[in-house]
Amino acid sequence: MNHPTRVLVLNSGSSSVKYQLIDMASGDRPAGGVVERIGERTGALVHRTPGDGKRRTERPFADHTAALGAVAEELSADGLGLDSPELAAIGHRVVHGGTRFTRPTWITDEVLDTLRELVPLAPLHNPANITGIEVARRLRPDLPQVAVFDTAFHATMPEHAWRYAVDRETADAYGVRRYGFHGTSHQYVSRRCAELLGRPPEAVNAIVLHLGNGASASAVRGGVCVETSMGLTPLEGLVMGTRSGDLDPAVIFHLRREAGMSLDEIDTLLNRRSGLIGLCGENDMREIGRRIAEGDADARLAFDVYTHRLRKYVGAYVAVLGRVDVLAFTAGVGENSAAVREAVAGGLGGLGIELDPDRNVLRGDAPRLVSAATSRVAVAVVPTDEEWEIASQSYALVTS
Ligand code: ADP
Repeated sequence: MNHPTRVLVLNSGSSSVKYQLIDMASGDRPAGGVVERIGERTGALVHRTPGDGKRRTERPFADHTAALGAVAEELSADGLGLDSPELAAIGHRVVHGGTRFTRPTWITDEVLDTLRELVPLAPLHNPANITGIEVARRLRPDLPQVAVFDTAFHATMPEHAWRYAVDRETADAYGVRRYGFHGTSHQYVSRRCAELLGRPPEAVNAIVLHLGNGASASAVRGGVCVETSMGLTPLEGLVMGTRSGDLDPAVIFHLRREAGMSLDEIDTLLNRRSGLIGLCGENDMREIGRRIAEGDADARLAFDVYTHRLRKYVGAYVAVLGRVDVLAFTAGVGENSAAVREAVAGGLGGLGIELDPDRNVLRGDAPRLVSAATSRVAVAVVPTDEEWEIASQSYALVTS
C-alpha cells in the first residue's frame, strides 16, 4: 500500500473551527472550510471542495464536539473522511507553547496535560485548541496528531530580546517574558522570501510584517528569529484591528484608579475595543480606505497611528539586524493594501528601502517584489500559508 500523504489541519478557536485537508505529495487541497458561531443560537458550516465549490449548512453547533463531528461528516460525504487510509496525521494549531514546546510535538496524554498547565498563559486561545485536540483524538484515537505552536519559531530569540526588564525573580516565577506569536507565518514567509531572492535561508536577513486582524513584526537573521513584536500575549507591539499594541503599562493603573475600571474591563478595552476599531470604529482596512477617500478625519488618524507604529518597528529592526535583505508584507492587510505598504516603506531610501510605486499597486496571488530595481533591500509581498506550514511540519514529524 502507498504511504498515507494527507494531513488534516485544524485551527480551533473559541467560537470557530477552521480546517483544511492537504495532500503533501501533490500539494492539492481536496477540502477545507470553517464552522462559525459554535455555541451560539445560529451557527454555520461552510465546506469547500476544489471541484464544485461550496456547501453551506446553517444550524446551531452546541460545542466543539458537535462542530468537529459535522466537519467529519462533510469530509466523509466526499470520501475524504477521518477513516480514510490516505490520512497520515492531524495537525493542530496551538497558540501558546510556553517555554516547554519549541517544536512540532506528537500529542500524547502527557503532552495534553502539559498543554492544560499552560492555559493561564493563553486563557483566550489554548482552551479551544485543547478541546479541538481532545475531540479529534476521540474521533481517530489511532491516528498521529501533532501540535504546531504559534510561539515556537520565536524560541530562538536571545535572552536580551525575550526578557522584560522586570524583577527577575517575579518574572521567572510567573513566566513573564516575551514569547511572540504568528510564528508559523513568520517562518513560512521568511523562507519564501529567501526562495524569491534565489538564496538559501541562511544567507538572508528578513523583516516580516504579518498584518492581519492581529499583527506582528519579526526580525529573522539567516532563517532564525531574533526579535518579534508580540510579547507575553498577542497584545504587545503593533496597532491591530482591535488591540492597542504597545502602551505605557501605567495606563492600566491609571484607568483602574481614576476611571474605576475593573481589570477585566481594561483587558476588554485593550484587546477588543482599541487599535483601529478604538480609533475610528472600524477594523477593516478596506472600509478605512473608503472612508479616508471620503475625507473622514477619524479614519485618517487611525491609518496614520497604525502606519507610524509600523515604521518605528521597521527602523528598529533594521538596527537589530544590522543588514537587511528583504522587507516582507503578509496577511490580509499586508498582502492587499498598497496604501499601507506605501505609508510604511515609502521614503525610506536612506535605509536602502526603495518601493516601486507601480509594482506596489499591482495585484497578484504569488510572492512578488514591489521594490525598485535599484533598492538595496528587496521589498516583497508574500501571501502567507499557515495551514501549509502546519501540515508540512506535522507530516515531517510523523514520517521522520
Ligand atoms: P486574520 O487571519 O488575522 O483574521 P487576515 O490575515 O485574513 O486576518 O486579515 C484580515 C484583514 O485584512 C481584514 O480585517 C482587512 O482589514 C484586511 N484586508 C483584507 N482584504 C483587504 C484589501 N483588499 N485591502 C485592504 N485590507 C484588506
